[in-house]
Amino acid sequence: MSSTASLCDNILALAKEAGACAAGFAEAAPLAEAEIAIFDRWLADGRHAGMDYMEKYGALRADPRTLLDGARSVLCVAFPYGPAERPSPLFSDYALGEDYHTVLRAALAPVAAAMEAAVPGSATRICIDTAPIRERVWAVRAGIGFIGLNNLLIVPGAGSKVFLAEILWTAEAGPSSPLRQTACEGCGACVAACPGHALDGCGGLDARRCLSYLTIEHRGELPDGLSLAGRRIYGCDVCQNVCPHNRNVRNAILPAFAPAEELMALTLDAAAAISDDDFRRIFRRSAVKRAKADGLRRNAARACAGKLPKIR
Ligand code: SF4
Ligand code: SF4
Repeated sequence: MSSTASLCDNILALAKEAGACAAGFAEAAPLAEAEIAIFDRWLADGRHAGMDYMEKYGALRADPRTLLDGARSVLCVAFPYGPAERPSPLFSDYALGEDYHTVLRAALAPVAAAMEAAVPGSATRICIDTAPIRERVWAVRAGIGFIGLNNLLIVPGAGSKVFLAEILWTAEAGPSSPLRQTACEGCGACVAACPGHALDGCGGLDARRCLSYLTIEHRGELPDGLSLAGRRIYGCDVCQNVCPHNRNVRNAILPAFAPAEELMALTLDAAAAISDDDFRRIFRRSAVKRAKADGLRRNAARACAGKLPKIR
């Protein structure tokens, strides 16, 4: 085994020790024209809904070397957050524990430090859902999963309930082997089950119809006629819960992602009337902050028209 291969193996092992269920390297290089065109068409169709920030930084998104001067490698990692052993009827599995931005940055800091130490003079940059980088494209290139018809990365054996992160590195790492499985095989369960009809059956998502987008990212009034009766008030998860890749999966989840008891105890009525102070206190370390108190009250009020969802 070459010294580069053994160095890479050591780093991948470190990432797994930090809690990742999958890790792989890809060469830092510009995206292919076709990969850029798919994203640009999605924007041009307005399928990013109100996520205007997606329209910015196209040049950075097209080439990860613009995010770290001299980057030669991308380490892609997937950290599992589910399937939750104790799912909530109100909140998506990903939001039950502490905010993944904070947790993953702390988990990956020693990995990045080890990379810099392994190649003296090299530099790293940790990206967790904030830098303009096509996370799923890089994860596929690094061989850690494939993109399902539910528009999410699926890690064979670990499923789709994973957080993705990257560490850009100025040192060269041999790219990891590509996956054999690269597509869903005649399933389509997510497309059929999606309550918003947001999945186009070709792997594309229309955020304007997605309950996850509408309950988390959307500001202002919910669309007329949208029912959240029997649905979660933060996130959705239906397209993941019906996916066979998430069945019989037992992931080792970081303790920080265990459900927060106060969040689990919140009822639909209490969420509809939650005060700003209680929202800040209950969700101060949670990704639910993103919806803001107004958003959570709005969603809960819309859902109050129905009963609590059956967890599927
Ligand atoms: S999160 Fe829900 S609404 Fe959005 S694509 Fe998945 S199933 Fe459809
Ligand atoms: S539910 Fe089926 S079609 Fe959808 S992502 Fe999972 S395997 Fe693919």
